[in-house]
Amino acid sequence: MRAPWLVLLLVCGCTSPLSALTSERTITVDAQRFLLRSREDAGRDVDRVASALSTATPPLSVWGGLEQSVTVHVLRDHEELERAVRRPGFDWLRAWARYDDVMLQAPSTWAPAQEPLVELLTHELTHCLMFQRSGGPDDWSKRGIPLWFREGMAVWTAKQGDKYPTLEDASSWIAQHRDLDAFKDGEALSQAWSGPVYGIAHHAFAFLVRRYGQDAVTALMARMKSGQSFHDAFTGAVGLTPRLFQKDFETYLRLKGFRDWARPVGRPPKTLRDVLPER
Ligand SMILES: [Zn+2]
Repeated sequence: MRAPWLVLLLVCGCTSPLSALTSERTITVDAQRFLLRSREDAGRDVDRVASALSTATPPLSVWGGLEQSVTVHVLRDHEELERAVRRPGFDWLRAWARYDDVMLQAPSTWAPAQEPLVELLTHELTHCLMFQRSGGPDDWSKRGIPLWFREGMAVWTAKQGDKYPTLEDASSWIAQHRDLDAFKDGEALSQAWSGPVYGIAHHAFAFLVRRYGQDAVTALMARMKSGQSFHDAFTGAVGLTPRLFQKDFETYLRLKGFRDWARPVGRPPKTLRDVLPER
């Protein structure tokens, strides 16, 4: 008779899809090491991922690059990805990053061209980099880093901003959904509202970099690496609490501060009288 646990395993398909990835290839890009794991018959997908990594890795240097090697698991299709990351119902998900590995849906099932694959890999590797530079292998997930910062940094680094709502769209979305908080509840809202939530994250991170500089982001990660929570590290590195930063950014969106970029500081906005021809 078959052992009961084996029957259970066969019925619910509980084995992780990662156990089927028995083929391995190692590559090095700019002294950063990657291990690609895949099924034995995934040759073309693995070739594409290896090629994409050579373009996807250099942009990470803006934050000092990866500190550890990263394993990329190439999963056969979307269903295997959802099972591997235990996130059912995230139809738009194509990859998932942790401290030193990335789960990736085989590009042949969603990306006929290389460009979106390169962007996605830069995005996911930015997550790995942020986790590595904010913690160690055992405590990287315990800093309380909110979705807006994680995704904003990844979208910004991968230059994917044009894939998400514009500042005007983000401003309208916030005005129409005053009962929702994309900063505090980003995680929960991202399943149904991934576009607006990622768009707001991107614009908030870009606002942070423009106003406080890339060094503030590097300092924030270093403070977390020394054990501080995101809240305390942000407050120390940026000079105000994350909540005040959010208020500031939301005011900028509400007042559409982004429209008035050409007006020198101190000069009042033009009135109708200024722009109408004289009678
Ligand atoms: Zn992401």
